[in-house]
Amino acid sequence: NTFADIDLGDALNQNIRRCKYVKPTPVQRYAIPISLAGRDLMACAQTGSGKTAAFCFPIIAGIMRGQYVQRPRGARTVFPLALILSPTRELSCQIHDEAKKFSYQTGVKVVVAYGGAPINQQLRELERGVDILVATPGRLVDLLERARVSLQMIRYLALDEADRMLDMGFEPQIRKIVEQMDMPPPGVRQTMLFSATFPKEIQRLASDFLSNYIFLAV
Ligand code: AMP
Repeated sequence: NTFADIDLGDALNQNIRRCKYVKPTPVQRYAIPISLAGRDLMACAQTGSGKTAAFCFPIIAGIMRGQYVQRPRGARTVFPLALILSPTRELSCQIHDEAKKFSYQTGVKVVVAYGGAPINQQLRELERGVDILVATPGRLVDLLERARVSLQMIRYLALDEADRMLDMGFEPQIRKIVEQMDMPPPGVRQTMLFSATFPKEIQRLASDFLSNYIFLAV
């Protein structure tokens, strides 16, 4: 019942200790092993439940473990391996800050892109390389339309506060984004959906985006 009991790798475990996390929270305790085992997941999680680490740890561990084919390098297009979608600039920045701490000295690069701010600085960050992209849906659609980001290599997709994203009217953007992910053979792209509530619309997203998923309510 400690993080050391979960097989996350030395580098990540060291960063977890640096963050002074000792015991996994309930959502972490169940979600992390499920994701490490390669299963899709729909999890009920409120703010403050520790959900950020619950989706970041398996993504970072998976990228460190993964033997990915050489990623293409377009002139200006980048090919992240993981995408974390969140409803707001504030939440995206928070996730980015945490994900950077978790991936310290692992070689895994995290970049954030959100709307309502000039795009140029974000483009420069992306050009330096990105493994995990944290983004708000509108800004990501913009980056896709400019062909600055490609989702063809995405192996991990996390949707955070999915209910809030739908409340904010992001469903068309989210669908457009997920459509652009190369349909890998089943089991290759792993998807995690986090939401505080589970109305019909969220259940529909889950059945459209997740395959053979585990439902977690803690
Ligand atoms: P979140 O729900 O992801 O926004 O996390 C809420 C807060 O709890 C953040 O400040 C995290 O850094 C912190 N936190 C997350 N997991 C743990 C843990 N296992 N032990 C201690 N603090 C944690």
